[in-house]
Amino acid sequence: MKKIAVLTSGGDAPGMNAAVRAVARGALAKGWQVMGVRNGYAGLLADHFDPLQARNVGGIIQSGGTVLGSARCPEFAEPAGRKKALQNLGAHGVDALVVIGGNGSQSGSASLAREGFTVVGVPSTIDNDLYGNDVSIGCDTAINITLEAIDRLRTTASSHQRAFAVETMGRNCGYIAIMAGIAGGAEVIALPEHEITPAQVAERLRAAYQRGKTHALAVIAEGAKCGVHELMEYYGAHRKSIGFDLRVTRLGHVVRGGIPSAADRVLATRLGAAAVDTLAVGKRGVLAGIIKGDVVVTPLEEITGRTRPADASLLELARVMAI
Ligand code: ADP
Repeated sequence: MKKIAVLTSGGDAPGMNAAVRAVARGALAKGWQVMGVRNGYAGLLADHFDPLQARNVGGIIQSGGTVLGSARCPEFAEPAGRKKALQNLGAHGVDALVVIGGNGSQSGSASLAREGFTVVGVPSTIDNDLYGNDVSIGCDTAINITLEAIDRLRTTASSHQRAFAVETMGRNCGYIAIMAGIAGGAEVIALPEHEITPAQVAERLRAAYQRGKTHALAVIAEGAKCGVHELMEYYGAHRKSIGFDLRVTRLGHVVRGGIPSAADRVLATRLGAAAVDTLAVGKRGVLAGIIKGDVVVTPLEEITGRTRPADASLLELARVMAI
């Protein structure tokens, strides 16, 4: 191995920069050259490569987003797009690519691997929906941002005898919602992984009111079938019987921004370095993830087309704690 490239792709996640730094410095320490690719797969197609030295990745471990930029690039999902990408990688003399990104991005890296290029994936998405990996880079920070919002809303909810429905991100995975919901003491949590109707959510809020609570919190994952629109519609029709006034806060992209947590920085550093070590021992076409606390590599072929759902069994714990 002489020269590697690294890119960040798909939705940005706090900790991506720490992963870029770890890949670059891990590889430089082995005497390899490193190229940073701008804007994910779009930069591979547009031939946007820059050499990375140790100082180029200094002072970024604490910043959110990605200094390399990220993009969604539909052309890369087509064989003609990947052909162009492979030509550009070849023209720069790049032997291997590290792809830092989520589910879609790792489907892209699996495609490149299938076409014969040496690729290692690093799981980075706030959604935490990647198979072959327990915790992806960015989700701890996203949970903490969601939790801070819940804690803040709780104070105003309590002062006004209100219920709040907080919608958080995660695409089709309820991981952020279940974790932040338990940590924030939510009365009810709606996940894509578990069927719950607006009537059932409203019933839990009503019951909390009847038990004398001064406020109630519903945490709604963005991918839940019972979304905030459905909930507000139901609430509008049954307002009087629920007791609480209900307000909705959609956190949206706020959840993705900000300073990466210590846990995300350490995870990103471990996984970025592990990706380099994986290449050094001649492994390719794998995702370097964390399973039960250890770095484990899983073939990209096993990962594509699969997702890792949130653990809906934790909902019962949340329900008991809300009595
Ligand atoms: P994330 O990695 O956060 O899940 P996306 O799903 O948007 O983000 O995927 C990021 C990029 O990965 C896409 O814009 C596309 O370039 C590439 N990609 C996604 N799916 C595939 C696929 N099946 N084959 C090849 N490339 C893909």
